[in-house]
Amino acid sequence: MTAQIIDGKAFAAHLSKQVAHGVKTVKASVTPGLAVILVGEDPASQVYIRNKGKACAEAGIASFEKILPVSITQAELLIEIARYNADTNVHGILVQLPLPDHIDAQAIINAIDPLKDVDGFHVINAGKLAVGQDGLVPCTPLGCILLLKDKLGSSLAGKHAVVLGRSNIVGKPMAQLLLKESCTVTICHSRTEFLSQETRRGDILVAAIGKPEFVKGNWVKPGATVIDVGINRVAKADGTTKLVGDVDFTAASEFAKFITPVPGGVGPMTIACLLRNTLQAACAIHGVAFPLG
Ligand code: NDP
Repeated sequence: MTAQIIDGKAFAAHLSKQVAHGVKTVKASVTPGLAVILVGEDPASQVYIRNKGKACAEAGIASFEKILPVSITQAELLIEIARYNADTNVHGILVQLPLPDHIDAQAIINAIDPLKDVDGFHVINAGKLAVGQDGLVPCTPLGCILLLKDKLGSSLAGKHAVVLGRSNIVGKPMAQLLLKESCTVTICHSRTEFLSQETRRGDILVAAIGKPEFVKGNWVKPGATVIDVGINRVAKADGTTKLVGDVDFTAASEFAKFITPVPGGVGPMTIACLLRNTLQAACAIHGVAFPLG
């Protein structure tokens, strides 16, 4: 079997257009605004933030950026968060992670107004997801579930889903979303025994571990849908580098029915879902029906 590629780039472009249309429909009531805070001058993060700003502009979302020195104290950063919490033009606040070691990242995230927590990492939004209440859902797992629903539709119910990774950013919320879709969910991590036996049980296999091409072809159940969240930069023989996922794409494509590539799979969905979450937050704050609901 040669798997059909799930084109995350095309789906993300479609979703971003839907968001842009949604922004137009709520324009009379609110112009959604997203604030991004970056601590330090990491060039990769700066590029990422520029891309977010561009994506916001294309969707009609106002964007605000704050680049703060790496020496900033936790107390000073909390003041910046409080300013954006109080700013009525801002409906989404995103703090670029990781933060320097002297700052407690979870304390910063929990200082964000949960209604503006477009990353969905606040303990209140994580709790809402766990108990099945509506809230803001982390962008990457949200992107994965939208891709899965698009490919598998209502047939997600009853499927065995195996999630590799248990981070608060990807693995855990991914498992919660799959559970919400009535999948039977197995979560694997670095202490899981007989990992390949577990992965081979998955009708759906989501890999989010940050290990290049770790999942081998014969770890995939024939006919499974594989969602590769991993983004790993590896060296090529000619001295340049390339991006690969957590799954050996070529080998896994011989077993899977559907598979996301890296790049061009989950990655583009993350930014599109950030736009979606910002529109959702703006609608919730202003009591307007969410047009993509
Ligand atoms: P973390 O490092 O926070 O978590 C990694 C998880 O993988 C942990 O739960 C860890 O287990 C588990 N793990 C590590 N090694 C193994 C192993 N050998 N076998 C089984 N499980 C293992 O990473 P993130 O969740 O933040 O990110 C995961 C990947 O997804 C990275 O490549 C990251 O770059 C990518 N990513 C991509 C995004 C996108 O937009 N496409 C967005 C966010 C992340 P344990 O808990 O036991 O340590």
